[in-house]
Amino acid sequence: MQYTKPLARLIEEFQKLPGIGPKSAQRMAFQILKMPSAEVQKFCEAIIDAKEKIKYCRTCFNMSSEDPCEICTDTRRDKHTICVVSETKDLIALERTREYKAKYHVLQGLISPLDGITPNDLRIKELLERIGKENPEEVILALNPSVEGEATSMYLSRLIKPLGIKVSRIA
Ligand code: ZN
Repeated sequence: MQYTKPLARLIEEFQKLPGIGPKSAQRMAFQILKMPSAEVQKFCEAIIDAKEKIKYCRTCFNMSSEDPCEICTDTRRDKHTICVVSETKDLIALERTREYKAKYHVLQGLISPLDGITPNDLRIKELLERIGKENPEEVILALNPSVEGEATSMYLSRLIKPLGIKVSRIA
């Protein structure tokens, strides 16, 4: 027996999310059906609202409702350092440790040949343009210690070091 069409469709949509297999998608779909209609409405509105209001900062590619974002417009931050991260969530994690009051650059991914993600798919060209414009003293690579993170760090080091800029790494 198969699920009735609307339910099958809902399960299919949940499966588009990262890390969600058929079983989790099924659980999520059933949970939605158990929720009161008003709750479901709120849930859907939050998704649509976030999608409509959240933009990317055209300087650092951080997710923000403002462009330029609140970090790029914060004049108290160290202008001589750009901290490179993979995703906005990594930026948030670093901000929570409060060690860095630098500016950031969000690559929006990592180089991953297996997934077909090449340097051209990331915000690397924009990073180099920004380095040319802002002339920082240091670029800190704060990328995951995964194979992809390593590959991306090496790639960026090779591009940035010859420009006479200090490149350091934190995991
Ligand atoms: Zn920004």
